[in-house]
Formats: sequence, C-alpha cells, structure tokens
Amino acid sequence: MSRAVVALGANLGDRGSTLRAAAAAIVALPGVRPVASSREVESIAVTLDGPDTTKPRYRNAVVIVDTDLEPQELLDALHGIEDAHGRTREVRWGDRTLDLDLVAYDDVSIDTVTLTVPHPRAGERAFVLAPWHDADPDAVLPGVGPVADLLARVGDDTERVDEPRLFDVPTRASGAETSDS
Ligand code: AMP
Repeated sequence: MSRAVVALGANLGDRGSTLRAAAAAIVALPGVRPVASSREVESIAVTLDGPDTTKPRYRNAVVIVDTDLEPQELLDALHGIEDAHGRTREVRWGDRTLDLDLVAYDDVSIDTVTLTVPHPRAGERAFVLAPWHDADPDAVLPGVGPVADLLARVGDDTERVDEPRLFDVPTRASGAETSDS
C-alpha cells in the first residue's frame, strides 16, 4: 500500500458537485481506499500569465488515499475520471470542469514524460497547500518540507467554502499517523 495525495480543481459547471462526484469516483477505484479529505476552497484562476480575475473562480480540494496502484496507473485512472466529467469543449482553453493532479505518492520522486511527482508546482500553490493542510495538518511535501510551512510562506489567499468534507472516513487517519504498511 502506498499513500497518494490528489488535488482536485474545477472552474466550470456545478463545481462542488463535480468535486464530490470525483472524490467518490477516486475512492471507488479498485485498489484505492480513502484516508482523508479536505473541505473545499475557492481560488482565483491561474493561467500561464498569472492570476486571472476575469476567469471563473476555481473550487479546489485535496483527497488522500491508500492505493495498490502504481503512480502511472493511478494517474491514468484519474484521467479516466476527468474524461467522465467531460472537459466541456465549447469553452476557452484553460477552463475546465475537472482537473485532477497527483501531488505526491509516498516520498517517491518520478520524472517521466507523462508524470512528475511530487507535482512540481504544488509547493507554490495555496490552492493545493491549503486544502492539503486541511486534510492532513502534519503533511510534508516530499523533498521540500512541511505543508504548513510552505503555506505560511506563500500566503493563504484561498477562501474556505462552508461545506462538509468531500468524504468522511470513520477513523480519519491523518497522513503521518496510521499507515498500515
Ligand atoms: P493538465 O491538462 O494541466 O491537467 O495537465 C495534464 C498533463 O500533465 C498530463 O499530460 C499528465 O501526463 C501531465 N502530468 C505530469 N505530472 C503530473 C502529475 N503529477 N499530476 C497530473 N498530471 C501530470
């Protein structure tokens, strides 16, 4: 079993429903089981040119899972879930109904054409760090440092959404505590 951190984002459609459905689909994957989920935050769309307040705002969340899937297998499955939520075609490049990123996978480093783990920009993005910290206050970005410190450094410009976690796990294990492996 490995522990994986997945970041979810949506800035089109019913964003909250999409994030909830995506989280449910992730933990329903064969070889995946839920560990913890954040609540949702809202953030400003970031494009190649920087933050863009003219674009629809994002809802973001982070889910933590234990999995038997290899990192690329997990990413492929995440892409299947993105496809199932159909990135709408009529809209401008960049806006999306659902974006799923593999932020971390145990403390492994991967750099292939299709997959870089830990996600290279995770440590600079409050919309990843804030929900990750919410899901697991003791989280550490492998090779970089505690998520709490990174979040303090970048500054938390996200807004907490007043909704429950995407899922609740009866015995909620925070990242560092109770790995069976
Ligand atoms: P995007 O359209 O922004 O979601 O980018 C998806 C592309 O990024 C895909 O082609 C993935 O293969 C690639 N990619 C590389 N590393 C990661 C990662 N850690 N998580 C998600 N996608 C990744």
